[in-house]
Amino acid sequence: AKTAGRKTWRFFEPAMDARVKARRALEMDMRQALLDGQFEVYYQPCVGLEDNRITGCEALVRWHHPERGMISPAEFIPVAEETGLINELGEWVLDIACKEAMTWPGDFKLAVNVSPVQFKSGTLALKIAAALAASRLPPKRLELEITEAVLIRDDDAALAILHQLRAIGVRIALDDFGTGYSSLSYLQRFPFDKIKIDRCFVNDLSTQGGSSIVQAVVNIAAARNMMTLAEGVEKAEQRELLRTLGCTEMQGFLFSRPVPAAQILALLQAAPDK
Ligand code: C2E
Ligand code: CA
Ligand code: CA
Ligand code: CA
Repeated sequence: AKTAGRKTWRFFEPAMDARVKARRALEMDMRQALLDGQFEVYYQPCVGLEDNRITGCEALVRWHHPERGMISPAEFIPVAEETGLINELGEWVLDIACKEAMTWPGDFKLAVNVSPVQFKSGTLALKIAAALAASRLPPKRLELEITEAVLIRDDDAALAILHQLRAIGVRIALDDFGTGYSSLSYLQRFPFDKIKIDRCFVNDLSTQGGSSIVQAVVNIAAARNMMTLAEGVEKAEQRELLRTLGCTEMQGFLFSRPVPAAQILALLQAAPDK
């Protein structure tokens, strides 16, 4: 038995074990980070393609790790999802972002990412309602960004949750459109307020194939009264092409990177009235 045990152990060494350890360390660090206030919410403006005016901002979480410095959400969000910690982190982001949005001038929208784990938790609608009540943010100013992943497994359950959220009065955007197993058929099933076209299509815009995909999405969205936002716009030529294609909004480094709360407030205060 001892030999077998040792063999099993060696099977996991060293690569697997190192990865598991690293992940566990990250999970423990993340719990501590929530208690210590190491997370911060940054905001990136979304801009109308016709008038170049800011319509709202997307909340994007940042982690200032005391030893490792800034860690990308691409690294820690998946771990937070696997461990369930995304429920606490997501709730924290939602609460903070709703409160900060209340300090903005005018009625700029606030977009918040919702993980599929939060979506399936069964308490999402309650958490949303609580964040709105605590901040007094009008529901119509809040836009929840969900990904196609929530629609794949259990369509009926997902649709029921979407309708619950709709009943609260928040807006719903389909994020990263085109990267999953998505299909245009999802757009027929639920009336999203906005389709966020993934950055990879914006990158391919100069090719024939790339622009025809964007055109198809824009056409379907327009026919169903949905807005279309192109993600990751970095170049002026991309912006012009997107405008020509009839896309309604853009987001990307061309206009602004995600910035801390104080900076977004200054940017919004300087923005022309809508
Ligand atoms: P996402 O929701 O697709 O967010 C857009 C990402 O693209 C952000 O990365 C943003 O900084 C980046 N981006 C924006 N404009 C440009 C551009 O012009 N060029 C390039 N190359 N990138 C651009 P970020 O902030 O690193 O976030 C990565 C992902 O982490 C997000 O992708 C989202 O899936 C997730 N995430 C971030 N914050 C949260 C959160 O509070 N909750 C949840 N569940 N996920 C989050
Ligand atoms: Ca997003
Ligand atoms: Ca996205
Ligand atoms: Ca993404």
